[in-house]
Amino acid sequence: MKHPISKLIRTQIERTNEMEHSQPMYLTSSFCFDNAEDMRAAFADETEDNIYSRFSNPNVQEFVDRMCTLEGTEAGFATASGMSAIFASFMSFLKQGDHLLACRSIFGSTHTVITKYLPKYGIEHSYADAGDISSWEAAIKPNTKMIYLETPTNPALEIIDLEAVRKLADKYGLLVNVDNCFATPVNQQPAAWGADLVIHSATKWLDGQGRVLGGVVLGKKELIKEVYLFCRSTGPSLSPFNAWILSKSLETLEVRMDRHASNAMYLAEQLSGHPKLSWVKYPFLPNHPQYAIAQKQMQNGGGIVCFELNGGVEAGRKFLNNLKMLSLSANLGDTRSIASHPASTTHGKLTEAERMAVGISPGLIRISVGLENKQDILEDILQALELS
Ligand SMILES: *Cc1c(COP(=O)(O)O)cnc(C)c1O
Repeated sequence: MKHPISKLIRTQIERTNEMEHSQPMYLTSSFCFDNAEDMRAAFADETEDNIYSRFSNPNVQEFVDRMCTLEGTEAGFATASGMSAIFASFMSFLKQGDHLLACRSIFGSTHTVITKYLPKYGIEHSYADAGDISSWEAAIKPNTKMIYLETPTNPALEIIDLEAVRKLADKYGLLVNVDNCFATPVNQQPAAWGADLVIHSATKWLDGQGRVLGGVVLGKKELIKEVYLFCRSTGPSLSPFNAWILSKSLETLEVRMDRHASNAMYLAEQLSGHPKLSWVKYPFLPNHPQYAIAQKQMQNGGGIVCFELNGGVEAGRKFLNNLKMLSLSANLGDTRSIASHPASTTHGKLTEAERMAVGISPGLIRISVGLENKQDILEDILQALELS
């Protein structure tokens, strides 16, 4: 078996005496030992035996092993949500007096962690423009420890050159931490471009069916050891039930993402030039500002398409109300297509200037393209545009 997808599908918890074909679910909070000596050895880290599900669990380990196969990383630790993975990655490597350099357009709760909670621990930050990597070097300080970024960014779909980020980080000896949620590992592997830490919200495309929350931090063994020690004591560990769901989902990830991306490409092409739209953005449309970088580091354009309605905020509200099939939901990465209007919802509390700084224009619509027939997705959007 050479291909990572085959390896992933065939990586599985060791079969029990029942000879089950599918993985069993280990819903147990703790594990037992035959004797005092085995128990002592486990606690002394001399064996890899499971002790307690806050530390490790077979279903969780299977999910992590499969993610390592996809991302090409040595180790990982799975968490209860994407946010706990992100927080754990900060708390494991940053301390009082350190500085974090992050790209400005990041997931909303990540922004809250960086601006509201990290300062409580004496960790400062600067934001840099995702679209202009040449400006990042000037933002590096003597106490900078980590560069944090998303690519593609949410929801502006900016693409950051992972190779250029690694070069910059090497010059100053910084850790590179990449939230790879939007691309998924079947589309982009940041570790192959030198990222030290790769993070996912498994809640999105990895589950892909809108069922459970989950997250993971992946990287070299020595780094993940730190994440493990932090999580083992503080407790944001992934539930074995969610791990069982997520691990099963990974078996179909490549097939699903291929279809999400081909549906999204079709939608982006068909909507381009529509008279009610001022622009359509998709990483694999040749007019995307970072098209060349997307072609270099991504295998496809992903499942998110954005466009700008000519009529601004009011047109955005009308458009959502006119949709018949697409769901109105803040989530993304589902079999069902979802439309969202950040200016009136997720980013409604920001001022217009703050929104524009992270690429959220008044009429911006984000479509998470699902697995429905591509013609049906397009037609629902076209009829809603007619009425908007
Ligand atoms: C949703 C999301 C997160 C947070 O993940 P949760 O599982 O909701 O905690 C982090 N980063 C990105 C890019 C996301 O889309």
